Amino acid sequence: MSPAYEATTAWAQAADAADPLRAFRDEFLIPPHEGRDSAYFCGNSLGLQPRAVRAAVEAELDYWGELGVEGHFKGRLPWMDYHEFVRDHLAEVVGARPSEVVAMNTLGVNLHLMMVSFYRPTAARPAILMEAGAFPTDRYALESQVRFHGFDPAEALIELEADEPNGTLSMAAIERALAEHGHRVALLMLPGVQYRTGQAFDLQAITELGHRHGCMVGFDLAHAVGNLPLRLHDSGADFAIWCSYKYLNSGPGAVGGAFVHERHANTALPRFAGWWGHDKATRFQMGPEFVPTPGADGWQLSNPPILALAPLRVSLEVFHRAGMARLREKSLRLTGYLEWLVDTQLADVLDVVTPADPARRGAQLSIRVRGGRERGRALFEHLMAHGVIGDWREPDVIRISPVPLYNRYADCLAFAEAVRAWARAG
Ligand SMILES: *Cc1c(COP(=O)(O)O)cnc(C)c1O
Repeated sequence: MSPAYEATTAWAQAADAADPLRAFRDEFLIPPHEGRDSAYFCGNSLGLQPRAVRAAVEAELDYWGELGVEGHFKGRLPWMDYHEFVRDHLAEVVGARPSEVVAMNTLGVNLHLMMVSFYRPTAARPAILMEAGAFPTDRYALESQVRFHGFDPAEALIELEADEPNGTLSMAAIERALAEHGHRVALLMLPGVQYRTGQAFDLQAITELGHRHGCMVGFDLAHAVGNLPLRLHDSGADFAIWCSYKYLNSGPGAVGGAFVHERHANTALPRFAGWWGHDKATRFQMGPEFVPTPGADGWQLSNPPILALAPLRVSLEVFHRAGMARLREKSLRLTGYLEWLVDTQLADVLDVVTPADPARRGAQLSIRVRGGRERGRALFEHLMAHGVIGDWREPDVIRISPVPLYNRYADCLAFAEAVRAWARAG
């Protein structure tokens, strides 16, 4: 399992030629830089466009033009059932039963909708346990939910500080926090993969721990979905939410997703209801009483945006053909190559923040430049100007995410060569 990597163009080209998933790259539009493909490492922020998306969106525009309202019932994929056409592949990507997932809204909206049902604070158990340094939306959503229920975030929002040297969080720290606060915690909410450090969490172990303390357990999978093979059903998590424009390649502002574990399929927990969540069989009787569709579908509010679901449908078909197991296999080797290049060629310039254990990370490596923030910014600008596209996260992290669907070993080498050229010049 220790691949013999080399820092040469010949080696990278041979590795790309031998890659069993290499043909998938041709299914994507790679942003050009000065007439050549850029080395695009931002699939964790905005995944690239599958070529098939344009025709899929145009097909729906054509149906609208030709069929008008009849498009709800006619056409190849009638709009009435459209969210169901993405369901099986979505379930596959997150390791859930089809009835446990739904494509709807966006991440932030779904987080709030899930919390309406799964964050039920009481005087004795009012708290949410989350990570310190979470993505802003998560912090804002959780704090505002605490206030909405009339509690004081100073007491009811417990933020777990990173306890490992690079700012990552150990399982032991989560255990300690639950041992101390667990009896007061209504909801344990953590990421699948942390957006700044790239650390991956063990969803099943965390869920078991949270449940042992009587907490509901939810996950934000923004950086995990389409990145790691997930087994959400088996993890036992109560709910999860995600967006689809990062590793899922479904376009800016794409339709997000939610998972609700089967055990809550017919829950009596409160929810915010809308007509699209009403039992499909009787939805159009337009009665006054809300009867939810069992499963995740019952949390839908509105009839879905078809033009936005078309890219998700196309993109999930790509995942279905590639398979998460094969993608992970390549991802381990590809990110392993990037890490090897940093460790063996660039150790005087860069440090990797992301855990070295491949089981504790996905595709992304978060990298710090030695010498402080200003040098970090300078390298980042240099990379962007030379067609090596990563992103910058305050205060001092460059995120580089080789995506197994479309990145090449040659891209990783291009990153290393650009860093070396900058270091030599500086
Ligand atoms: C990307 C990301 C979001 C974005 O939320 P939207 O509602 O899609 O804008 C939220 N949380 C995390 C952890 C993210 O990485």
